[in-house]
Amino acid sequence: MAESIDLNGNALVAITRDSLSALRAALFRDVGPNAAALLQEAGFAGGPALYDAFGRWLTAHRLPAPEILAAADFSRRASEFFHDIGWGSIAMGELSTVATIDSSDWAEGDPGHPLEFPGCYYSAGAFADFFGRVAGEPVAVMEVECRSMGAERCRFLVGATEVMQRVYDAMGEGVAYDQAVAAGG
Ligand SMILES: [Zn+2]
Repeated sequence: MAESIDLNGNALVAITRDSLSALRAALFRDVGPNAAALLQEAGFAGGPALYDAFGRWLTAHRLPAPEILAAADFSRRASEFFHDIGWGSIAMGELSTVATIDSSDWAEGDPGHPLEFPGCYYSAGAFADFFGRVAGEPVAVMEVECRSMGAERCRFLVGATEVMQRVYDAMGEGVAYDQAVAAGG
């Protein structure tokens, strides 16, 4: 179900996927690895307006506010929303103590510009604020599979900050993300 959305009324601007990809490439070229944090910061800063836009989208579809939307409906509606605003469709799931967000068509993933690491940093930042608002508490988001790496999907892990820190640390020691999560993060 693709629908247009009122960009002006939702404090959104349309940029092309090509621009997003070029911005990331230029940042990593000129800033180096710190570009990741800059992109995350930019995504995070847009979270509140993004969450408000989701609320208005739900209202327009005669659905309840995000906070009271039934969990079973949340994944489907969030997927429709992100698809409608051009980012791509998502499927939400669980992996032990963390939530997963999978997308096979995510806009920030770019198989045409291959990376050796997951590269959807802007999205990870935006998700951190967005899903933190949904959860009512701070969450950390880390992408562990990415279409930019040749994977079939982008996969983001969403979890409590301390859990995600342990997963991150374990991965830094060479542990696969699914094993790190299964070990309790
Ligand atoms: Zn990705």
